[in-house]
Amino acid sequence: MKETRPSVGPTWRSVFYTALIYGGAALLFTLLGVLQGPTVAQIGTTRPADTIPGHLIELAVFGLLLAAVCIVGFGREGLPFVLLLPVLTLLLDIDHLPAYLGSAETIRPAHSLLFLAFVLAATAITIKALDTELVVASAFMTHMAIDTGLFAPWSPLSFQYIQLDPYRPIFAVGAVACAAAAGLVLRVRKMADNHGRGANNG
Ligand SMILES: [Zn+2]
Repeated sequence: MKETRPSVGPTWRSVFYTALIYGGAALLFTLLGVLQGPTVAQIGTTRPADTIPGHLIELAVFGLLLAAVCIVGFGREGLPFVLLLPVLTLLLDIDHLPAYLGSAETIRPAHSLLFLAFVLAATAITIKALDTELVVASAFMTHMAIDTGLFAPWSPLSFQYIQLDPYRPIFAVGAVACAAAAGLVLRVRKMADNHGRGANNG
C-alpha cells in the first residue's frame, strides 16, 4: 500500500493548508514582534496608501511569473502552485496588520530568515513534499527581492534593522532557483511514477 498522495503533483488541499500555515506563521511572528520588540524598534509603518495597490500588483505579477517557471517544469499537475506562489508572495505583508490598525509594531516582523526557517520546518512536518517547500522558499524570496528599505533578518530574536537593498539580487536568484528546483523535483517524481506504473504493468 502506497502511503504517498495519489497525485504526483501538489493537491489543492495541500496548497490550501500551506497557505494557512504560512499566513498563520506570519501572524505569529507579528505577535512576537509586538510582544518581544523593544519600544525603540516598534516603528513599523505602512507605505503611503496610494502606493499600496501598485506594490501588491507588483508582488502578484512577480509571483505569477515565477509560477510560470514552475509550470514549465510541472505541466498541468503544477496548476495548484500557480495559485500558491502569488498568494504566498502577497501573504507575507499580513505582518503590517498592527500598523494598518493604527498600533505600534516592529518593522516587517515576518520578513525574517527565521520566519523562512520556521515555515519550511512546519511545511516539512505537515505537508511532507519537497516541491511545496521549494515553492514556499521561492515565494518568500520573491517578496524580499521586490521590497526595499529596512528589515530585521533575525526577527523575533533580534530587531537590529538592516537595509534590504544589497540582498535583493541574492533573493531574486534564490527565488528563481527554488521555483526551477520545484519544477525539477516534480518532473523527477513524475518520471519515477511512470516508471513504477510501467514496471507494474509488465
Ligand atoms: Zn513586504
